[in-house]
Amino acid sequence: MEKTPLIEVTGLRKFFPIRKGLLRRTVGNVRAVDGVSFSIAAGETLGLVGESGCGKSTVGRTVLRLIEPSAGSIKINGTDITTANKQEMRTLRRQMQIVFQDPFSSLNPRLKAGEIVGEPLKVHGVGNKKERDARVAQLFQRVGLRPAQMNNYPHQFSGGQRQRVSIARALALDPGFIVADEPVSALDVSIQAQVINLLMDLQREMGLSYLFISHNLAVVEHISHRVAVMYLGRIVEYADKAALFAKPLHPYTEALLAAVPLPDPALKRTKHRVEGDVPSPINPPSGCHFHPRCPYAEARCKTEAPALRDVGMGRQVACHLR
Ligand code: SF4
Repeated sequence: MEKTPLIEVTGLRKFFPIRKGLLRRTVGNVRAVDGVSFSIAAGETLGLVGESGCGKSTVGRTVLRLIEPSAGSIKINGTDITTANKQEMRTLRRQMQIVFQDPFSSLNPRLKAGEIVGEPLKVHGVGNKKERDARVAQLFQRVGLRPAQMNNYPHQFSGGQRQRVSIARALALDPGFIVADEPVSALDVSIQAQVINLLMDLQREMGLSYLFISHNLAVVEHISHRVAVMYLGRIVEYADKAALFAKPLHPYTEALLAAVPLPDPALKRTKHRVEGDVPSPINPPSGCHFHPRCPYAEARCKTEAPALRDVGMGRQVACHLR
């Protein structure tokens, strides 16, 4: 049975205008996100994958209204946040947080780690100083840091510890939903698994929902329940993790999987790898955006854009041939 979604995104668009000349006239748009829809249930992780430049980070920021959407609705617990005013947004923000890729640039270097983690509590007027300090100490312990480290500055932590500080800050207001935008990409491989396991433990304990954004399919396979594959601002495949990794349907998903290294060097990939770069979202290819790179492309792929259709078992794919 389908769980009730905590997050429901419908027809999300984010276009960035391109302005030119003295009068800064709009001469075009970067179509970073072009009609994206998905839902995430309580306690569920949706992995959002694609090459860099496909619009996945813009989705993450737009879903939290850190940047304003151009169109579409974003519901959290049934409330559409796109129509919320400043005051309503302030209350809604408590329920949704973000963990960024690079903890070094997302943590204020002049604040002690304890102040960084306690900042959201202070901004939202939660408790007095003593109560806030106690909560911060508890959060430090929960993410695997010592409360004594509250007095350290960001540069005194290792990369993995800094990401733990970021996670503690994201948890401070007890949110239900966290956007994790490439949260382990800047970390050593040996540390990545520890941070992923921490996120999974926290999900089990607190029933958190994650939108987990990553270009790394191995990481996405480990943490996600369902996966959405993005290409040039659109979702091209959406499926349960097991189904997607066992049998990718979209040629782009197939190509992404073919690029993942196999554990045994004697094994060989038989499927096509993706060649070339992601085209510009300012002037995307006609028809199916993927056709210039697709080994199966036919004549109609150049003129007709395939719709994202249901192919059963909650799976969707945007390809004329699948
Ligand atoms: Fe390839 Fe055509 Fe399918 Fe696009 S619609 S993925 S070009 S086969």
